[in-house]
Amino acid sequence: MADKVSQTQVNPKPNQEEEKVHVFEAWCKRCDICIAFCPTKALTADKDGYPVLTYPEKCTQCGMCELRCPDFAIAVRPRKKKASSKG
Ligand code: SF4
Ligand code: SF4
Repeated sequence: MADKVSQTQVNPKPNQEEEKVHVFEAWCKRCDICIAFCPTKALTADKDGYPVLTYPEKCTQCGMCELRCPDFAIAVRPRKKKASSKG
């Protein structure tokens, strides 16, 4: 008997750049530390004070915001692997 496999189509976001950094607002206390430590100033505060990746093109995914956040409220997505077959 063949199992039914639900096909969940995951549509790529039109602006995947925004997913370089994810903010967990439930944990974020809006202290701005991540914004202050971002070396490229890619983060800004939104109208409620939560960090938002306003300039995704500036984000180098250095990990500084994640490292400095005292509440583990911001996560940097892993960088895409470069195509390399060298082993
Ligand atoms: S990963 Fe680095 S460059 Fe990107 S938002 Fe965080 S601190 Fe800024
Ligand atoms: S450092 Fe963490 S808690 Fe502070 S504003 Fe950034 S994500 Fe929120």
